[in-house]
Amino acid sequence: MKSKYDKIQQIISNMKQPDYRYLQITNAIFRVRTGEFKSMSILPVKLRNALIDELGNSICCISPALQKKSDQVGKVLFSIPGGERIETVRLSYKRGWESFCISSQCGCGFGCRFCATGTIGLKRNLTVDEITDQLLYFHLNGHTLSSVSFMGMGEPLANPDLFDALKVLTDNNLFALSRRRITISTIGALPGIYRLTQDFPKINLTFSLHSPFNEQRSKLMPVNDLFPLQEVMKALDNHIRRTGRKVYIAYIMLQGINDSAAHAEAVAGLLRGRGEWEHLYQVDLIPFNPTGKTPPGYRQTDRTKINRFKNILRSKGINVTIRMQFGSEIGAGCGQLYGCQGD
Ligand code: SAH
Ligand code: SF4
Repeated sequence: MKSKYDKIQQIISNMKQPDYRYLQITNAIFRVRTGEFKSMSILPVKLRNALIDELGNSICCISPALQKKSDQVGKVLFSIPGGERIETVRLSYKRGWESFCISSQCGCGFGCRFCATGTIGLKRNLTVDEITDQLLYFHLNGHTLSSVSFMGMGEPLANPDLFDALKVLTDNNLFALSRRRITISTIGALPGIYRLTQDFPKINLTFSLHSPFNEQRSKLMPVNDLFPLQEVMKALDNHIRRTGRKVYIAYIMLQGINDSAAHAEAVAGLLRGRGEWEHLYQVDLIPFNPTGKTPPGYRQTDRTKINRFKNILRSKGINVTIRMQFGSEIGAGCGQLYGCQGD
């Protein structure tokens, strides 16, 4: 039994209550946005008390410890059982669209050199409830969950509970999120990519590339020795062939490190000649966010140079965009999340 929703079903069946009680509860949580079992007056008192005894009164098990806000961005630091902290970022766009960047692990064991989360090491995987409660918290507070990306703390495909969390997020009785509105970002964890292709073909997949050169990629991202670039590309080709969906290639622009014309040519070289589906690769160039935790020599490439890089890719027929950045002023940008340390 992985999630609290499984446990609710179990309690209902142990008490020999009718099955429709489950739908009454999920309706209360997801339609009426009721955050406490105590307020579910539609349920018999006996059942309500049993739910409270087993699961606690509050439906959401993580609590906000600190919130930061700027115009379009909110960052919430949540306390999770065991005394650790994780961070979730909310981005608001025009016309009520709200996008959430959630964490899958507390810390991360992959140690990418440019990422603040990577300097912490892996504290632990988040449970299904801890992953989905980051969104439940916002839902219960009246927010619209328009889209969700696993680009907060941690490597989602290194957490075996991720797939159960995806089931909860896409379950029609629960969050009912469209698969097309969910994005998984990965450094290339091969078994996880193959499983995603199989089990969740419609979920968006982003691969963090950051260098087309093996040796350099291994320096920036030690995981490259475990899951070599060429193998990951084959897994991504397979994903595209099997799903007919785009695959996004994330590329952080680090001044003087991976932003040369030779890098752009090599990125194009990597993505061309992959067969009839190759136009489904799209490169997202991401300005590096300084973190204070990563080496001081890592700086953001300037706009002109980012544009030059983009133009080289475009001239080679590669789809490319520059990803808009929000939130770096409150430490909520990609790679800046450091919540486990509680600062
Ligand atoms: N572990 C996954 C998902 C979390 S990181 C992954 O690495 O893909 C989400 C994105 O933020 C990744 O593309 C990652 O490369 C990027 N990122 C990490 N540190 C960054 C930084 N300092 N500035 C900008 N992007 C960063
Ligand atoms: Fe982990 Fe992703 Fe950060 Fe690398 S970039 S250390 S995989 S969270």
